[in-house]
Amino acid sequence: MEAKFCMACGDELETRDVDGTMRRACISCSFVHWGSYSIGVGALVIKDGKILLVRRAQEPGRGYWTNPGGYIEQLEPIEATIEREVLEECGVEAAVKSVVALRDQPRSIHNIYIAFEMEYVSGEPIPDNVEVDAAGFFSLQELETMNVAGFTRWLADVAFHGRTQGLTVDPAPVVPLNGYGLYRV
Ligand SMILES: [Zn+2]
Repeated sequence: MEAKFCMACGDELETRDVDGTMRRACISCSFVHWGSYSIGVGALVIKDGKILLVRRAQEPGRGYWTNPGGYIEQLEPIEATIEREVLEECGVEAAVKSVVALRDQPRSIHNIYIAFEMEYVSGEPIPDNVEVDAAGFFSLQELETMNVAGFTRWLADVAFHGRTQGLTVDPAPVVPLNGYGLYRV
């Protein structure tokens, strides 16, 4: 899928060399189509040895159990997005602890997925009946007989058998960096 029109001025795009790489760029203004990307965030919430899962009510992946998650928003910090998504999908309040996994999928829309370990705060899992139609906490053993998406099985392994605590928010950066969300080892 090749971009045809400029997102800034609406004129046509042409293919030309931009700093050594052939890219789609506007014939009238400075707009360059750098590529198509999407960023997903996911929640790994564990309570009493069980992980929070939801059953997808929509495609893609309808009928599969996954961890709660969604796509980031333009101006919303990613930790706010994932906390909101968990609450919206299944009524559970959880707080970000760390970044524990990352998936890279270079393809037509290059996708990055960031998984957070989250601290359970409150609420019983109740599906929103829009995005998801079931929700609950399940043990690894219970997952074995459920219709769990492959990637979610991988994430559950990270959640239960993670080797480090991952990247945590830097509460006091050595350099003041306004507007940055900073996670570090
Ligand atoms: Zn343009």
